[in-house]
Amino acid sequence: MANIIGDVFSAAAAVAKGMSVTMKEMMSPTVTENYPDEPPKLQERFRGVHVLQRDENGMEKCVACFLCSAACPSNCIYIEAAENTDKLRISGGERYAKVYNIDYNRCIFCGYCVEACPTDAITHGHGFEVASYNTSTLVLTKDDMLAPIPPGAKPPVIRELAEASAH
Ligand code: SF4
Ligand code: SF4
Repeated sequence: MANIIGDVFSAAAAVAKGMSVTMKEMMSPTVTENYPDEPPKLQERFRGVHVLQRDENGMEKCVACFLCSAACPSNCIYIEAAENTDKLRISGGERYAKVYNIDYNRCIFCGYCVEACPTDAITHGHGFEVASYNTSTLVLTKDDMLAPIPPGAKPPVIRELAEASAH
């Protein structure tokens, strides 16, 4: 008999404990996100689609060293390097990435490429809406990922274009 009463009390205590959690959550503010009607709140370090960064002068930070590509476990970074010249200077180093593609069919957003980059040229952005029925659209190119030129900055290639159009 004592055992039965004990069981009833412990079951009631368990139900009360569970209900207290339910009641507490009912009183808490809702955390439901209204995506896609409203943009989601992403954490600062969220790993989204990559961004190829520029320096404060608008030059591309990537110097085509291939370290990101070597570090990538999915083998999804494709780079073609080219030499900067006096006439065409794209980055601050000897070389720049003429072609820089990432295949998001394969990328696992591990961040190894970001960690491997010696010039902080590649970072994760917050873009995540890359789902597609057409896998060919998941290969993003340098144009898709390159950061805009900072306001007021005039990298050499832009200066040359402006001078050429003025003549
Ligand atoms: S996040 Fe990982 S898988 Fe994606 S490109 Fe970088 S190293 Fe490769
Ligand atoms: S993104 Fe960084 S690691 Fe990759 S090639 Fe450019 S400079 Fe090298």
